[in-house]
Amino acid sequence: MSHRDDELELELTPEQRRAMATAVVDRVLTHVDTLAEQPCIGPLDDAADRCRAMQEDPPEEGVPLSDLLDPLFEEWIPRTFNAAGPGYMAYVGGGGLFPAALADFIAVGVNRFTGVWNAAPLLVQLEANALDWLRAWMDFPATTRGLLTSGGSMATFSAVVTAREEKVGRDIRDGVAYVSSEAHTCIKRAARMAGILDDRVRTIDVDDSLRLRVDHLQALIASDRKAGLRPFFVASSAGTVNTGVVDPIVEVGELCRREGLWHHVDGAYGGFFHLVPELRPVLQGLSAADSLVLDPHKGLFLPFGTGALLVRDGDALRRAHDWEAGYLPPLPDPEFYNPTQYGPELTRDYRGLRLWLPLKLFGVKAFRSALREKRELAMWAYEQLSACPELELGEPPALTLFAFQVRWSGAEAAERSAATRELLARVARRGRVLLSGAEIGDRFLGRLNVLSVRTHRDRVEEVVAHLQEEARAVVAERQ
Ligand SMILES: *Cc1c(COP(=O)(O)O)cnc(C)c1O
Repeated sequence: MSHRDDELELELTPEQRRAMATAVVDRVLTHVDTLAEQPCIGPLDDAADRCRAMQEDPPEEGVPLSDLLDPLFEEWIPRTFNAAGPGYMAYVGGGGLFPAALADFIAVGVNRFTGVWNAAPLLVQLEANALDWLRAWMDFPATTRGLLTSGGSMATFSAVVTAREEKVGRDIRDGVAYVSSEAHTCIKRAARMAGILDDRVRTIDVDDSLRLRVDHLQALIASDRKAGLRPFFVASSAGTVNTGVVDPIVEVGELCRREGLWHHVDGAYGGFFHLVPELRPVLQGLSAADSLVLDPHKGLFLPFGTGALLVRDGDALRRAHDWEAGYLPPLPDPEFYNPTQYGPELTRDYRGLRLWLPLKLFGVKAFRSALREKRELAMWAYEQLSACPELELGEPPALTLFAFQVRWSGAEAAERSAATRELLARVARRGRVLLSGAEIGDRFLGRLNVLSVRTHRDRVEEVVAHLQEEARAVVAERQ
C-alpha cells in the first residue's frame, strides 16, 4: 500500500497543530471582520438541490484541511441567515460575542471533564459562580440552584420534570399543566417528554393584547379539580416570542401560590432585561417564580448552545435529577456544585467557560448598556414607523420586539396577511435586514426585534427606511 507524504496521524505534530490553528483563526477572523457587509440572508433558492448533491459516502481517505475550509467559508456558511450580523432582526437574535468562541476553543482544547466536581473542582467553581451571578441578577434567593443547558428548550424540560416530581409524584396521569396560546412551543414539547401528554395540557386564552388571561386560568384549574385531576404547573412568559408581550406574572404567581401550583416563568427572550434597573417593573414578579428559564445565547449575546435554568428550591432540582452511582465520588462538602446532580447529563461540554469568560472580560455593565441600547433602538424604530400610513403597529415594545401589519383602506384580512408576507420578503431581498413573522390565529404579523449585539442606530435607520419604502410599494400595487 502506498503511503502519502501528507497523510495525517490522529495525533498531529506541533508544527501541524500550529499551521491548522492559524489557518482556521485567519478564516474566522476574516469572516467576523466582514459580518456587517455580508448579506442578511444568503442565496437559498437552490438549497435542496445543493443538499442532495452534497450527500456522500464516508471518506476512507483524508483530505487536506484547506479543501474543507474552502467550501465551508465560500459556499456553505454564506448560504444561511446571517444570525450573527447587525441586520438580524428576525426571531430572537443575540449575535455571538467573539470571546465566547475563544472560551470554547480553550474548553475543547484542554478537554477537561466537568460533569462532576471532583474531576475539575476549580473549573466547576467558575461555572457555579456564573450561575450564581444569574441568580443574583434575577433576585432569586440563596436556596436557588441552576443548570447550564444547550438552550431554553432543554432548560424548560428540566423545569417541567422538577415540577412534576415535586407536585405530582408517581401518579403522573393526574397532573395537569397550563400554558397560554402564545406560550413558546418548547413548553408543550417539554411536557410531553416529561410524560404529561396532550390531554393533560390546557391552553389558556389570551386577551386582546395577547397576554395570558388569569380569569380563564382560574376557571380551567377549577374545572380540572372538579374532574378529580391534579393541576400542578403554570407557565407565564416574560416576553413572548411572537410579539414580545409580558404576561401578568405577579397575578399568575399569586394564583399559583394560593392553589399550590408550580409557577414557571419563560424568560428565554426577555429575562436578561432584569439587568437593566429601569426595565425591572416590566418584569415584575419574575423574581418570585419557582423556576425561570434564561437564554444567554439571546439576551447575553453568547453563541448558540447556551441556555440556563434557575430553580428557587435548589434541592428540588437535585431530587429530580440525582442518581447515586457507585463509581462517582461524593462531594467533600454540599456547598459545592456538582453539575451532574442537577441535570440529565453526565459527560458534557464545559459550557460554563463560555459564560464566565465574556462576563469577566467585559464586566456586567457592558451587557447592561448593550441591553439598554437595544431597547432604545426598538422604541425609536417603533416611533418612526408609527408615522407610516401603510403600516399598522401593534403595542409599543415591552422590551425590544413589536409586531406590525400592512394596511390600506378597504383591505380584507387575508390580503393584509399576504401583503405583510410580501413586505418581509422584499425587505430581505434588499440584503441589509432580515425580519420574521408570526401567525396569530388567522393573521400573519411582521415582527421586528432588536437584540443582536452588532445592531446599532445606523442599521435600525436602514430597517425603518426599507420598511417604509417597501410598504408603500406593496400597497401601491394593490390599491
Ligand atoms: C428561544 C425561546 C425559547 C426556546 O429556547 P431555545 O434556546 O431555542 O431552545 C423558549 N421561549 C422563548 C420565549 C424563546 O424566545
